[in-house]
Amino acid sequence: MIECEKKINENNVCFKCINDDFLKEYIKSNAGSNRCDYCKVMNHSCIAMPINEFIKEIIRCLKNRYVKGNAYADKGDPDYYSTLLVTKDIVDNEIKPVGTQLSDDLCNLIGAGFWVDKYGNVNSPDEQDEIKWEIYSKKIKCNLSKKEKNKILNEALAPICQYIISSGLLETVDVGSRFYRARTNEPNITFISHMQLGPPPEDKVKYPNRFTKAGESAFYGSTDDVTPIIEVHDKAPYGITVSVFETTIPLTVINFYKFAKDCKQVRSLFEDDFYIKKFLEYFVINIVAPADEKDSTSYIPTQEAVQFFKKDLQEKYGILINGLIYPSSKNVRHTANCILFFNNFDCTDDEKNEQKPLKLLMKETVNYPPDYWTEALKEKQHITFSFNTNKIKPEL
Ligand SMILES: [Zn+2]
Repeated sequence: MIECEKKINENNVCFKCINDDFLKEYIKSNAGSNRCDYCKVMNHSCIAMPINEFIKEIIRCLKNRYVKGNAYADKGDPDYYSTLLVTKDIVDNEIKPVGTQLSDDLCNLIGAGFWVDKYGNVNSPDEQDEIKWEIYSKKIKCNLSKKEKNKILNEALAPICQYIISSGLLETVDVGSRFYRARTNEPNITFISHMQLGPPPEDKVKYPNRFTKAGESAFYGSTDDVTPIIEVHDKAPYGITVSVFETTIPLTVINFYKFAKDCKQVRSLFEDDFYIKKFLEYFVINIVAPADEKDSTSYIPTQEAVQFFKKDLQEKYGILINGLIYPSSKNVRHTANCILFFNNFDCTDDEKNEQKPLKLLMKETVNYPPDYWTEALKEKQHITFSFNTNKIKPEL
């Protein structure tokens, strides 16, 4: 028995013998041997690493998600019993090794026993649930005291803010960057001023929006000129006016568009920040999805999250954020929308007006007649993301 264990410990395993993508990468970046003891492949370059080193990484990641469940199995706790797993289940489902020899060796090295999925059980401790979007959403919609609300926000969102900073989702938008808005024309009215085409005055904001409550004014726009047209052209019998606003101060934004673009759909337990990314993935899905009109509380989780991001980034990190960039709900077109925390008063169309703080300067408007876009949009299924572009008319 001792000899057998010694032999396992000396084995090298190659990346081809593991099907989890992140573990494959882990082996590649730690490979020191050109031979695999499982598939017996010999290669010119290094493809394999010692299994006794590999297992340390596996156990480290497993402990983020599972706890040893032997105590629950002994007690026969019915709540846990249904989710009890044996080591082999975990090896097969999470690590996905090729071949029974490797599977058996991994089971031996991890050790036989029962495991409980910390996230898959309703009775799991609260602190394990803190980074789950669904649970956060459900809790934050309840009638809460200020103290309870702060606790939920802090638990769920403080790690997200940390991740936003460490993973480079904060970006600077240069002076002179352009953001676009579109407004549907009304009969016999052509909108021309920044008062009409910028964000509405606060007393005119009757309905809550994805990131703002009723009565809160903010600049919702797009980073290209086609996206806002796509969003309104179905409801525009009198045509559309597109306006372009230019930034006159550098802005700091959180770029969730970048996150969504870089994020792979299939996630592995062995990925860094697995649960934080999962949470953000749901956050982005909620931003992009159409709101449930029957549910008046459906915007609360995103509204509260954005307020928290602003506050936490400023108080803890001294970073003032001016907005968010996020995927358009028409995301098959690979375009992005934005919210900038500027109201009607922060916009102007007069560069020389010194009364205005000159934060968003309306540079140009284009009035499109009805049906102008119908044929063009049908043809143009994929519009290239044109962040910071200087063009107002897209190439069609
Ligand atoms: Zn191999």
